[in-house]
Amino acid sequence: MTDVLIVGAGPAGLTAALYAARAGKTVKILDAEGIGGQIAKSPLVENYPGIAKMSGMSFADNLYEQVSALGVEFELAAALRIEKGENGSHIVVTDDGNFEARAVILATGVKHRLLNIPGEEEFQGHGISFCALCDGAFFKGRPVAVIGGGNTAITDALYLSALASEVTILHRRDEFRADENLMERAKSIPNIFWLPNVNIEEFQGSGNLTQIRYTDKLDGSEKILKTDAAFIAIGQVPNNLAFADLTDLDAEGYFASDEGGATKSEGIFVAGDCRKKNVRQLTTAIADGSNAAVAAWKYIDSKFH
Ligand SMILES: Cc1cc2nc3c(=O)[nH]c(=O)nc-3n(C[C@H](O)[C@H](O)[C@H](O)COP(=O)(O)OP(=O)(O)OC[C@H]3O[C@@H](n4cnc5c(N)ncnc54)[C@H](O)[C@@H]3O)c2cc1C
Repeated sequence: MTDVLIVGAGPAGLTAALYAARAGKTVKILDAEGIGGQIAKSPLVENYPGIAKMSGMSFADNLYEQVSALGVEFELAAALRIEKGENGSHIVVTDDGNFEARAVILATGVKHRLLNIPGEEEFQGHGISFCALCDGAFFKGRPVAVIGGGNTAITDALYLSALASEVTILHRRDEFRADENLMERAKSIPNIFWLPNVNIEEFQGSGNLTQIRYTDKLDGSEKILKTDAAFIAIGQVPNNLAFADLTDLDAEGYFASDEGGATKSEGIFVAGDCRKKNVRQLTTAIADGSNAAVAAWKYIDSKFH
């Protein structure tokens, strides 16, 4: 039996593995897709303290090498559910066998909601981004678009308006869901432009995104918006439903936990973007990973030794 089994090999899960292994625990980490989580999709990270520039992939690779050197084992498997084992252990049931552990850390992250239209996948990291805070600075002085009508979209537009030459907000409805104070601020900014009532049809370009093809829902006409970037802000979806019976989820599906990631189920901890919090970034994922690992090994020491 493993001491700590971690579901999700993104920054939070890998950091939890690092801290748990360094505390002398046996650690296994599994991920349905591979190593690195979301950050592996980022061509350039410029906001991680102490490292001026790095690719998301090298960040993930370095972290993985660091934990492998400590004997952490990796399994390519999707966790389907957690069952009770004997004597207080947990059985993580996956699509590739079952794993028994004294403590489990769920670091399952989020997926960004997609438009599912042509070009969306092709231009990710080449003009299409899901994170204005991460990638906005790459488009200094250039035209950008924000897609969405909620608080995230309008907050992104406000942030980007200080960097980009112009920000066009495209939204499928007439009404915006964002808070009134955000809307008022955004409406007062001269380089923010509004395109409500549109259906986005396709992202186009050659190598990098250069334009968005959309339909004006009011008259059915097809139009083109020239832009160097599109920040898609139509929501995030946590990957938590499989574990809803063992944890408390908030209205949006994020895990509720204390700072150490403890949940209502003894021995099950959560870390990273999957938990309820204000800022979802590398820095906070890493903080969560270390907190959850410390809470998990303290739990193991008190319960099993
Ligand atoms: C394109 C992009 C650029 C970004 N750039 C920056 C940046 O510049 N700076 C910054 O600070 N942040 C950036 N972020 C945000 C940052 O990547 C995230 O905050 C961080 O990755 C969260 O880490 P995590 O480990 O909590 O979750 P994730 O990175 O989402 O990792 C979760 C992992 O869990 C796995 N998983 C989920 N469910 C299961 C399951 N049931 N079984 C097995 N495996 C499962 C997933 O496959 C995934 O690998 C960026 C995000 C994106 C998408």
